[in-house]
Amino acid sequence: MSILNLKGILTPMTALKQISKEPHTINFPDEQKDISPRYRGFHYNDLEACIGCGNCSTICMNDAIDMVALSDIAGQPGDSGLRPQIDYGRCCYCALCVDVCPSGSLNMTSDFIKVSPDPYDFLMVPGKDNPDGKEKLSFTADIDTSLNVFDRVPMRELDPQERVKSFAEVFLGYTEEEARIEASRCISCGLCTENCPVHMHIPEYINAIAQGDDEAAVKIIYDNNDLPEMCGKVCTRHCEDICALQVRGEAVAIRWLKRYATERAENADIIKEIVNPEIREPNQYKVAVIGAGPGGLTAAYYLTLRGYDVTVYEAHKDPGGMIMYGIPKYRLPYDSIQKQVDYMKEVGVKIHFNTVVGKDIMFDDIYNNNDAVFMAVGLQDAWNLGIEGDDAEGVWSAIKFLGKINAGEQVDIGKKVVVVGGGDVSIDCSRVSRRLGAEVYQSYRRRIQDMPADLEEIEGAEAEGITFMPQTIPTRVIKDEQGKVKGLEYVHAEMVSEGGGRPRPKPIEGSETVIECDAIIAAIGQKADYSLLPEHILAHLKMEKNKIVVDENRQTSIPKLFAGGDAVVIGRNDAISAIADGFIATKAIDNMLMGIK
Ligand code: SF4
Ligand code: SF4
Repeated sequence: MSILNLKGILTPMTALKQISKEPHTINFPDEQKDISPRYRGFHYNDLEACIGCGNCSTICMNDAIDMVALSDIAGQPGDSGLRPQIDYGRCCYCALCVDVCPSGSLNMTSDFIKVSPDPYDFLMVPGKDNPDGKEKLSFTADIDTSLNVFDRVPMRELDPQERVKSFAEVFLGYTEEEARIEASRCISCGLCTENCPVHMHIPEYINAIAQGDDEAAVKIIYDNNDLPEMCGKVCTRHCEDICALQVRGEAVAIRWLKRYATERAENADIIKEIVNPEIREPNQYKVAVIGAGPGGLTAAYYLTLRGYDVTVYEAHKDPGGMIMYGIPKYRLPYDSIQKQVDYMKEVGVKIHFNTVVGKDIMFDDIYNNNDAVFMAVGLQDAWNLGIEGDDAEGVWSAIKFLGKINAGEQVDIGKKVVVVGGGDVSIDCSRVSRRLGAEVYQSYRRRIQDMPADLEEIEGAEAEGITFMPQTIPTRVIKDEQGKVKGLEYVHAEMVSEGGGRPRPKPIEGSETVIECDAIIAAIGQKADYSLLPEHILAHLKMEKNKIVVDENRQTSIPKLFAGGDAVVIGRNDAISAIADGFIATKAIDNMLMGIK
């Protein structure tokens, strides 16, 4: 007898044996069975904490997640405004999306029952469609179990005791290995791109670095930033402020990665070889640029690539404006700026140095002999302290002090210095004074946490021995018989909030104190000098609070006159915003001259 035949006889007998037994599956039909606390059912998303980065959607191998707009959630810097919607006809409950969620907003719950005749009910926006889900979380990913890496690769730097002895660069740059590791932390969500004033292609160049293709990274970077090595060293990095990883950890070191890539191109020739920009055939139009700062250089570079005959007029002997004369060399070495400008000259940008508009060449001549003018003159005049005795010998403006230092001139500030201010420029003055051997105190009206200066710079200053005097308001410069600074009188301040606004410092009566010092450096802001402009232009140039009013194309109220940089009302006062102005004006000038609406 074959085995098959034997099975045919035995199987009915085996089945008969079960007839006398009660079916156990229906013993307790009303009993609620406990679900494993770690059961993975539907997701729950904390909609407030979610930043709409889409990393969950990108990782899902079942294409179960779409990012959708919700009527009550608006996009803002650092939040796309989109939220994940999950198709439970596709989801396999693997929870990879939870593992990669940088904000930790996405979780899984033990809920899994949903009965509906409507097939679209299988699409759910977690958090919106199951608000009670937060009470039943069954799987979450904290920063220790997340697949994201929340700690950045530290940047090596000179020891504080060592660095105050010279103007050597403080930060030493990433090694190749460090750069690859740091670049691989990026989740490529692109939220950073939106917050960068020039919308650099950040995930793309970071990905190129992670893949080991530094040349591709350099080429991508130069696509919309002509001074990227400068940005790689001193950019105010609005991108990092909203990096998805900084929600629960440290932002990707976007600035340092840009520095790493651009430093691979060691000189202007190598930059040109790698970037190999497409340069349009020359057209018949001429454009003048006034000021070779970041905004002016940017407009000059990109207009030259578009075939325009561009000439830059610069009052100083070197290019760069504030980045050359205002940023100390321990942050931004001279060679770094020069290399980038040499590259621009190689592609055809013409710069007339030591040419003061309004003196060596008249504005009207420039205006009448060009088809468009881009003006980026910056803020060249400093605000005075505005207190008794501020004309004393030994009272410096930050711009004059830093300008002399960067020009290599000798500056005598004595043994003890008080710097007044709270922005990056004030910190630069303090740290430079320290490098000149002075004992340095920094007076600021508000609290340390209110200082607009970069925290990294504040910490660097503290490490170098600078003493901060928060909540102090200078009231009088004390002079000696020769009219030289002898000390600074100040009052202490308490922070008061009125009407729920930003706390402001209120002088405390009777708290007058004097600090003896040999020099005082006022770093309390700058204003523009428009003396280069003739009366008939000034009469029609729309201004607000001493700044030039421009539209979104950086067009002023004067035909064919565009403006950008610190002297215009739009944007922030930093180099990357000036670069954005130059880039935007380039497109607008091109459109105007080519007749494109
Ligand atoms: S990964 Fe997290 S933060 Fe990003 S969209 Fe998805 S749920 Fe929101
Ligand atoms: S649990 Fe897995 S399959 Fe389901 S949405 Fe998340 S990543 Fe996709």
